[in-house]
Amino acid sequence: MIAKLEITRNYINGDWQEAKTRETMTSVNPATGEIVGESQKSGLEDIKLAIKLAKAAFHTSDWRSNSSRRSDALMQWAYKLKENREEIARILTTENGKPIKESRIELDACIDTLKYFAGMARSIFGRSINLSTTSYGIIDKEPIGVVGIISPWNWPAMLMIREVAPALAAGNAVVLKPASRTPLISTAIVKLIEENSDFPPGIVNIVSGPGKVIGDEMTTNPDVNAISFTGDTTTGKNLMKKAAEKVKKLALELGGKSPNIIFPDANLNKAIQAVAKSAFITAGQMCFAGSRVIVHESIHEEVVEGLRKQAEKLKVGNGLIETTDMGPVISEEQLNKILEYCEIGRRDAKLITGGNRLTGGDYDKGYYIEPTIFDQVPIESRIAQEEIFGPVLAIQVFRDEKEAISLANGTIFGLAAGVWTKDVNRAVRIAKKVEAGTVWINTYNKNYPQAEFGGYKESGIGRTRGIEGLMEYTETKHINIEIEE
Ligand code: NAD
Repeated sequence: MIAKLEITRNYINGDWQEAKTRETMTSVNPATGEIVGESQKSGLEDIKLAIKLAKAAFHTSDWRSNSSRRSDALMQWAYKLKENREEIARILTTENGKPIKESRIELDACIDTLKYFAGMARSIFGRSINLSTTSYGIIDKEPIGVVGIISPWNWPAMLMIREVAPALAAGNAVVLKPASRTPLISTAIVKLIEENSDFPPGIVNIVSGPGKVIGDEMTTNPDVNAISFTGDTTTGKNLMKKAAEKVKKLALELGGKSPNIIFPDANLNKAIQAVAKSAFITAGQMCFAGSRVIVHESIHEEVVEGLRKQAEKLKVGNGLIETTDMGPVISEEQLNKILEYCEIGRRDAKLITGGNRLTGGDYDKGYYIEPTIFDQVPIESRIAQEEIFGPVLAIQVFRDEKEAISLANGTIFGLAAGVWTKDVNRAVRIAKKVEAGTVWINTYNKNYPQAEFGGYKESGIGRTRGIEGLMEYTETKHINIEIEE
């Protein structure tokens, strides 16, 4: 059985529990403004208990040493999610607003990630080294202990599983803090393991509640050995300061302002479609949304016109309707923030399309905004510099490669970039010079559990996915052996 959109509880030490505060939080469907469920508004007592029991489970069960158990547990979770994919996809769309077809893609990515790390659980290799004729070293990889995982609301299923799967594969116990806007979906996915006896009680825990209370305690509690945080750069910076008190190991996946650089020899049809998709996916509420286009002056008009057509043909509506291309944004607050950026855009640049709240009929109930494009955006404008987290695309023009790179690297962020050209030399040259953790060439938004992802500059610290993503959740120990001759 999986969670219905009712009142979800915390999962602590294998038990579903109400918060000691006796308070709940409501989840709202951004498409309709309706309350669709409640979750626990936990307090300090709840999170402290979860951490204490996670620590006990880590030390008393065989989880940390039994890699085949971990592998089986993760694989079963993957299959259970596959079995319940459609029902969970509906919960995801209802709580987050994204189109149902995107929810299915998100869940497929979760299933793939769980399967990959189920395999990797058996492949946590260290090294051995001859140090002298009588000395031998084993460089061992060990789990860290209790890992606190704090996730955002925009891809709430994937961004939780992306961290939970490697943390568990490496032998850690986890305490999850879902985003306050999307606890129902996170809890529904955790609920899938309640009958999975390969997970010892206390190895996976989820506690919902306010970031400032629950997240703060996770960051400062000495029994949490590492924090994985995915969210806004400002929240990440504050968390870093707090974590410094206990010299806590941190992995940070933060914001972005990613550019697509388009050269005249690119396959323009393909580029325009992919670039528009990258800007408007999840209504632009995506860390690596392609929120900037840097286009060569000779194809500028053609690209602007192509992007305008793509934006205007998107069907914006309730995500539960199969044909919807773009859903609402997450909240009224987020909508107003995006509209403020549109005002800045009107002052600093040239509006090509959109820029307004969608109103009338069902639009009045939810938080809908038009896909928006601004052209001739100066690099110093706030709409070129700041992460809007909405469907707003900023276009900039370049004359030569040097200028394209300077514009691409001209923000505090460095999460991802796209390069569009048929010239392989140029593509690689640009890819090497762009300061970003991922560079896609003639494509965008392709992610794989086995390929590392993460940020340069203020987009983050550490890597998620792949072998490096797994190693983020390990400690390294040198065991030195003196051999008697
Ligand atoms: P957010 O920073 O507001 O919240 C993220 C999480 O942190 C939530 O669970 C929140 O409750 C918690 N939190 C809030 N205050 C906290 C505190 N003081 N201590 C500890 N935890 C606290 O971010 P959001 O609005 O949920 O998500 C959007 C942001 O996430 C965007 O900036 C986006 O770019 C970023 N993001 C990054 C990636 C990536 O992989 N780099 C992926 C998705 C989203």
